Amino acid sequence: MGLDISPLFVANIFVLVISSLAYVSVFARNRTDSYWLLWIGANLALAAGLVVYLAWPELPVHLAILPDAMLVSGFALRHAAARRFAGRSIKLGLFALPPLLVAAANLVNSPAAIFGLTNVMLTGLAVAVAWEFWRDHADRLISRVGLVLVYVMMAVSFAARAGQGVLAGDQVQSYIPYDVVLEIHLLVAMIHVIAGSLFVLSLASEISAEALREAAKRDPLTGLLNRRAFDALLASSLGRSDVGLAVVDIDFFKSINDRYGHAVGDMVLKAVSQSLLDAVGTHGDVARIGGEEFALVLIGVDAAGAGAIADAARRAVQHSRVQHCNKHIAVTASIGVAHADYAGQTADAFLECADRALYRAKANGRNVCRFGLEPHKSSKDKSGVRPDHAGILTIAS
Ligand code: GH3
Ligand code: MG
Ligand code: MG
Repeated sequence: MGLDISPLFVANIFVLVISSLAYVSVFARNRTDSYWLLWIGANLALAAGLVVYLAWPELPVHLAILPDAMLVSGFALRHAAARRFAGRSIKLGLFALPPLLVAAANLVNSPAAIFGLTNVMLTGLAVAVAWEFWRDHADRLISRVGLVLVYVMMAVSFAARAGQGVLAGDQVQSYIPYDVVLEIHLLVAMIHVIAGSLFVLSLASEISAEALREAAKRDPLTGLLNRRAFDALLASSLGRSDVGLAVVDIDFFKSINDRYGHAVGDMVLKAVSQSLLDAVGTHGDVARIGGEEFALVLIGVDAAGAGAIADAARRAVQHSRVQHCNKHIAVTASIGVAHADYAGQTADAFLECADRALYRAKANGRNVCRFGLEPHKSSKDKSGVRPDHAGILTIAS
């Protein structure tokens, strides 16, 4: 065709190697992120394939399939890297594709068919990589969308090459026809490698920044929201009329520590946390706001509903199963509940209302759930609000 597309090959090899070096420097900082090795391996396999195309364009027919097999290996490695990146296991079956391609080339004496098959495999792998990135799009990270687009763009380019293999038929005399489609394809590939590397690096940093932000919100022992996150959550729910707050305090926790040791005390804290999470379910969130104190922020509930969930939490704690040396450790908690309808309009008033109810629950013998009323409302609403014998609030109709 008289086209000199060697510079495009060289440029592609160059950007693949440069982006591998960028991956090496990121991997050197955090060697536990082993998926970078797969991204590096993928780039090197692709670069090696391009070097062979460039250096030996007229390979004997039984060897000509090797650079194609290297490209397929490179994309299979990218698929593995994308899956490890997302914390999923590698699909080893895809690594059977390169040897299958070599076997097919030895069986079928048609460059067009093998050229088509190579590009069908590459199209499928590029789509599969795009899919692996798309699957986690619920995190709404922008770089993820960029990655999906660059892999879809590459898939379209491979699909065009596959179509060329079908349409051109016998005119395809080698496994890599040098023509204008290849020229466009190599340009697309170069944009794909540059944009893909930038997006994968920025996605990794977006994910680790997000993980740090999330860790800063969590209590390391229980994984629950910490005090700071609780304050923010409560502040953000002020002004709504469908919010309940329950303050939970484990009964006689000091004596559990004294009797069984601090480590067992920690086990109890974790078991109680899980019981509270189970009881709250989708109705809100649970925070650890002190040593053995927790808060349930209940959203979308009326006062009676908040009281019912809080009492369910009390029962869940009572039924928590904590074993130590084959002995069951009994654990209970007392709970004070407040609701936006009956508490003040500030976070402090809300908490104070729930705290006062907790104090009453402790005074009433522990393993008790009590409802709190703001003092100035209690006189006005007393007739309409009746805690039952278990301390559950019922509103008179
Ligand atoms: P009450 O029924 O009145 O609430 O009695 P209590 O023993 O639960 O309350 P107190 O405030 O006397 O004791 C709380 C204990 O919680 C004291 C402290 O050592 C323990 N504690 C606080 N943080 C942790 C922790 O992270 N792990 C463990 N194991 N114990 C903790
Ligand atoms: Mg306490
Ligand atoms: Mg306590």
